[in-house]
Amino acid sequence: MRLSVSWIKYLKNRRGKKILSQALRMFRFHSIPFSILLRNMFDALEPHKAKFTFPMVASVAAKDPGLTREILSRGHEVAVHGFKHLNYSYLTEQQQDDDIEKALDAFRAISIPVYGFRAPYNTYAEDTPKLVEKHGFLWDIGIGYNPKHREGSSPFRVKIDNHDSSFVCIPLNRWSDDLMIDIQGFSSHQIAETLRRVIRRASEKHGVVMFDLHPIRIGQPQYVDALKHVVEYGTELNGWFPTVNEAVNYWSEHGSWKDDASFCCLLTGDIDNFSFFDYLQRLF
Ligand SMILES: [Zn+2]
Repeated sequence: MRLSVSWIKYLKNRRGKKILSQALRMFRFHSIPFSILLRNMFDALEPHKAKFTFPMVASVAAKDPGLTREILSRGHEVAVHGFKHLNYSYLTEQQQDDDIEKALDAFRAISIPVYGFRAPYNTYAEDTPKLVEKHGFLWDIGIGYNPKHREGSSPFRVKIDNHDSSFVCIPLNRWSDDLMIDIQGFSSHQIAETLRRVIRRASEKHGVVMFDLHPIRIGQPQYVDALKHVVEYGTELNGWFPTVNEAVNYWSEHGSWKDDASFCCLLTGDIDNFSFFDYLQRLF
């Protein structure tokens, strides 16, 4: 534990209490192996055939290709979340381009098909959408977090140099698990209530709703019931829970949701680290 004490002191001095308390939270969360967190989620989703999309940091995915492949073998999807977890608004266009290229190479090397993109921190520079288009992604699931898109209920495209983007964007709901757990300190019951309220509204609009629920939080034994309740409730309301790729392809072809579903709910959650060690590497 001596090493732990010294990095706690280091963090406290260098970056302040906020980062320290976040690091301690992550230390606790990572005491459960990532494979167990994912299996907790799969077990909650599978009785209702609900799918989940995991934007993954490619350098992390490549560290455990077996675990990354298990996501696909259980019917879920992986998307690009950068090669490293960098804030694109601080990078030049060339640096962003290189990061995306390296991420795509890394996924290709471990034979993981990827169709979509979400920038780390849901943060985009002005030139990022152009790069998302350049690299041929079919969809982006981070641009929709921008307050001007967040409250929407339909897939949309953004303007790039006076044309509509070739890729489709999806509004990303503001009730992320970081907000509910880290900031608001919600219980599993409060998370379920909040998300149920949001999907009830989505069902009334026959729209799409997308959530950002990180496996490191929602896969914890004390929170995974919230995911189960949301999927149960959404199924009662005749909602559809596909992967993002399936939803975007179906919407592009039919302009509606499969099997006359009353709404489409996209469950997504980023995988930024597999272990606390990966998390620490990101901080320094
Ligand atoms: Zn992330």
